[in-house]
Amino acid sequence: MFKKILIANRGEIALRVIRTCREMGIKTVAVYSTADKDSLHVRFADEAVCIGKPSGADSYLNIPNIMAAAEITNADAVHPGYGFLAENAKFSQICADYGIKFIGPTPSMINSMGDKVTAKETMIKAGVPVVPGGHGLLENVEQAKSIAKEIGYPVILKATAGGGGKGMRLVWEEGQMENAYNTAKIEAAGSFKNDGIYLEKYVEEPHHIEIQIAGDQYGNISHLSERDCSIQRRHQKLVEESPSPFMTPDLRQRMGDAAKKAAQAINYESVGTIEFLVDKHRDFYFMEMNTRIQVEHCVTEEVTNFDLIKEQILIAAGRHISGKDYEPKMHAIECRINAEDPYNDFRPSPGKITTLHTPGGHGVRVDSHVYAGYVIPPYYDSMIGKLITVAQTREEAINTMYRALSEYVIEGVKTTIPFHLQLMQNDDFRNGHFTTKFLEGFKLK
Ligand code: ADP
Repeated sequence: MFKKILIANRGEIALRVIRTCREMGIKTVAVYSTADKDSLHVRFADEAVCIGKPSGADSYLNIPNIMAAAEITNADAVHPGYGFLAENAKFSQICADYGIKFIGPTPSMINSMGDKVTAKETMIKAGVPVVPGGHGLLENVEQAKSIAKEIGYPVILKATAGGGGKGMRLVWEEGQMENAYNTAKIEAAGSFKNDGIYLEKYVEEPHHIEIQIAGDQYGNISHLSERDCSIQRRHQKLVEESPSPFMTPDLRQRMGDAAKKAAQAINYESVGTIEFLVDKHRDFYFMEMNTRIQVEHCVTEEVTNFDLIKEQILIAAGRHISGKDYEPKMHAIECRINAEDPYNDFRPSPGKITTLHTPGGHGVRVDSHVYAGYVIPPYYDSMIGKLITVAQTREEAINTMYRALSEYVIEGVKTTIPFHLQLMQNDDFRNGHFTTKFLEGFKLK
């Protein structure tokens, strides 16, 4: 087993990894930017190394500084968390070159799922259903028009290097194509330094349902059932839950098998997630694979009773997994508590948290790195933490969530708590009647 793990990340996920390492008797090294010197991950780790100035490029994306920190502290493994370098094949390769274990997949596995066009091609070969559309990158607007005509409007233009819900353009009819094509390309180049775009059928009123999988170094793959992430704003997840209210035993079996097939196709090692869109007929389509731990992993932990960070570390250290699949035994919901103003178009609201009261009690879990007096820096994402509740039934988990949200006091910055409180009282949400379009018609009181 590893003796010392360096965590190449910040915020709640850095703390999350430190917690599991403590329980496993593994020493930890935190790295931090100058903006994060007062962060809990710095205080809770056994050692901490400053790796640069606030901007991501100068610190959490600065590979030479992170490798230097690993060398001087004698770390024998690196956990990348999510975001930053988590899906960076070059970083995974450099760790291997230094003889430091990257807790995640190999560079070739990351590459085969790294850009969406390559991932889609790999899935087609593996026999996993994908969203209908053209093969490969678009060469020009004429080609886009002809593919769209063939598969039928509406269609969606997506950046092959896209992520975080950015770089997508919906096209309802041919007249909009030229404009959409040009802006999508410019946006992709600006956001991802890669202007490759592709086209696929726009699935109307879909559910976003993803399958958590784990694979070991010997070809065994298990799935740990689904998470429903359909509650999204501008393609970004706000609430996740497991099981999905839209799930049936038959659909879980089919999606679970497809997810395992997808992972097998690239001999996947580590924990990972296969994201699907599911239409109203319960037909599902591969969208992408995330080759890392995800923000919403906690809901799966609560319903299957696995510590997914521990699984990830054990797999990296060479342990065998059973290849068995796991059904949800409970119902869990997660609300992302962000420093954003839900009454002002969810505008980020960084600043100092003056008062903090965190909820507790039966069935409540809070994964957060903040404390009273903590200053949320403006340089990174605006997540304050994740509030997760678990109960026997969905209704009880929602009731517990409402109760816990009502107890949560965060003063000094605006938060998404008022939004979540209203969502938990919404009849359609409570009845499980929602798709990824749900929030478009949702008005805050
Ligand atoms: P990202 O990597 O930026 O998160 P995804 O490919 O995972 O992008 O898509 C994010 C969200 O965008 C999905 O959850 C879904 O709501 C929407 N979306 C993506 N592709 C389609 C599609 N073909 N039809 C309908 N909605 C889509």
